[in-house]
Amino acid sequence: MHEMSIMATILDKIGEITQRENGARVTHIELAIGERAGVVTDALTFAFEAMSPDTIASGAELVITEIPLCYRCPSCAMETAESLNLCPACDVFLEAVRGRELQITFIEIE
Ligand SMILES: [Zn+2]
Repeated sequence: MHEMSIMATILDKIGEITQRENGARVTHIELAIGERAGVVTDALTFAFEAMSPDTIASGAELVITEIPLCYRCPSCAMETAESLNLCPACDVFLEAVRGRELQITFIEIE
């Protein structure tokens, strides 16, 4: 379950941020996880519950938002959730703009 090592990285990062802000503890964490980030949300939540009690994020509330996959045409900025490869209007390759991220979007520090 690689979510354990992902959560360890997230908790490290949160520890760094909290230290930088001179916080004593973290009460709320929000993560954005792309549909294609290769992470199982339930497993990540489980990893958080298993690992956070020994960290500065002990007792914090975890909110995970899943970001749906999104492709965009670099020419006309058309966006779609389907992997069409080519923009039907411009005939150029679409770029994946969302759906693979794994980010800490918000943390609340006390
Ligand atoms: Zn286009």
